Amino acid sequence: MQSDLAIETRALRKEYGRKVAVQGLTLNVPRGEVFGFLGPNGAGKTTSIKMLLSLVAPTSGEAFLLGQPMGDRGARGRVGFLPEHFRFHDWLSAREFLGLHGRLYGMPSERLDKRSAELLDLVGLGEFSNSQLRTFSKGMLQRIGIAQALLNEPELVILDEPTSGLDPVGRRLVRDIIQKERSRGTTVFLNSHFLSEVEVTCDRVAFIKHGRVVRTAAIEDLAHGSTSVDIRAHGLTPAILDSLGRWGEVRPQQDGHLLLTIKTMEDLPDVTRFLVAEGVDVFAISPNHLSLEELFVQIVGTDGGL
Ligand code: ATP
Repeated sequence: MQSDLAIETRALRKEYGRKVAVQGLTLNVPRGEVFGFLGPNGAGKTTSIKMLLSLVAPTSGEAFLLGQPMGDRGARGRVGFLPEHFRFHDWLSAREFLGLHGRLYGMPSERLDKRSAELLDLVGLGEFSNSQLRTFSKGMLQRIGIAQALLNEPELVILDEPTSGLDPVGRRLVRDIIQKERSRGTTVFLNSHFLSEVEVTCDRVAFIKHGRVVRTAAIEDLAHGSTSVDIRAHGLTPAILDSLGRWGEVRPQQDGHLLLTIKTMEDLPDVTRFLVAEGVDVFAISPNHLSLEELFVQIVGTDGGL
């Protein structure tokens, strides 16, 4: 039976000597979704990805890729991967490079030639197909890396920082490619620090800190889950600020502004009534949905993952 999970991990752990890079990763990634894997530097994202792909051996725990135990060669052949730091064979031309990787996947040459040409066009490198990779800019290398990750028409593609080194046009291209893959039914597992892109590209995200998932949610629920309310008022005493804490986090700003993070918009009339009853002069109450960046800071904190 085909598993409806593209990735499933249970208490996956990696220690490097005394350093615990991943503490106990438990994660379910449904098939067909674009899944964002988010966390501060050093949180253990790349190590987790390397374990999934059997590039490093886990210390303990287990994982399944496309329903097969991690390390299964058949399943690995149906996965595409763009590593964070790709070592390119820079004496090869773009076409030769894709040819090498296609042969590693065991692709028949006719299919490989057709697919390579298609992908070179898709990533905007059609006219450079015979140029050596050593002549490529950082952004062009990133593009050929993405083409390589899609070569085998994967069921699951893992992209580790696919837009690093790309200009805005390149980033938009990657976004379009991801959407296209999604509409083909491909599962995309995306590690990215560009949260504004994650926000528009991903269906679901997991926040990881110190090698553990601290929260998983559908982007839609995250966006509607918290609202930052900007309150402009006079007469906010410490006791009133304290009482406002019952609705959510209270962050006094300068110039009489106050930010209150509420969980649901249903609370807003109560907050307003409370302020008025307390004799506060209210000039403005403006609700704003939190950006993914604000949520990221709220969920993983500012102490980083190091
Ligand atoms: P970034 O966002 O900066 O790429 P990350 O979330 O991908 O970070 P990892 O690269 O997985 O984080 O690193 C997790 C932790 O494990 C870090 O503290 C890192 O220093 C440590 N680490 C990673 N690889 C090794 C290694 N080969 N030997 C020792 N420690 C390592």
